[in-house]
Amino acid sequence: MKKLIIFSGSGISAESGISTFRDSGGLWEQYRIEDVATPRAWKNNPAMVQEFYNLRRKQIMECEPNNAHILIAQLESNYEVTVITQNIDDLHERAGSTNVLHLHGNIRQSKSSGPNKEKAYYPIDGWELQMTDLCPDGYVLRPHVVWFEEEVPMYEVAMQQIAEADILIVIGTSLQVYPAAGLINYAINAETRYLIDPNAEELNVPSSFRVIAKNAVEGMTELLQELG
Ligand code: NAD
Repeated sequence: MKKLIIFSGSGISAESGISTFRDSGGLWEQYRIEDVATPRAWKNNPAMVQEFYNLRRKQIMECEPNNAHILIAQLESNYEVTVITQNIDDLHERAGSTNVLHLHGNIRQSKSSGPNKEKAYYPIDGWELQMTDLCPDGYVLRPHVVWFEEEVPMYEVAMQQIAEADILIVIGTSLQVYPAAGLINYAINAETRYLIDPNAEELNVPSSFRVIAKNAVEGMTELLQELG
């Protein structure tokens, strides 16, 4: 079976009702990144950060995977598929994808806020993580989300996966958040590269990509017809 890599960003979940990062009306227009998604924010006001992610988690739990997530999951019948997502939602998994690598974490899980670098993740029961919820090491549990200025621990693994891809499909990402965006440059063996994004003409897309300037659902439907 050919190895097919999906590299997704917040745009794939837009049609499920989850705000993207940069689009106008997007979630981040309402907040300053430094107030909610940095280690400094957690140090200065952990309760506010916890609340921000609690509300994100609640919203995500109320949303359903859309047809693009579902079509991607179905690709597993014909390809060896790895989904590398920048998203912290779990919609790929809920659509049935079995091999999902979360570059920026998974909001349904928590981890220690202590200095211990041990990589233990704990599923969150329900949508709310309280400041009184402690990790076995005694520190408050924080969301398992990679904040700005933090390392991306799965980067190397993702890089290796992308280097082995026969087919690469990039979908719903503005390719502006680094280092994640740099991953597409490692697809050295890919025979075909696609990019699906309704605003593709505004993005800096290498010429080796076949661009489908459509929303995720329509774009995936068209791409599947092309793949045959
Ligand atoms: P981004 O907001 O920078 O880019 C989103 C892209 O999606 C844009 O290029 C936009 O044109 C496109 N888009 C909008 N509607 C679409 C649709 N219906 N179908 C397909 N594409 C559509 O997002 P990014 O590149 O993913 O970077 C944002 C960062 O924020 C990521 O690191 C991610 O971790 C985080 N984030 C995650 C979620 C989530 O988990 N759902 C939501 C918001 C932000």
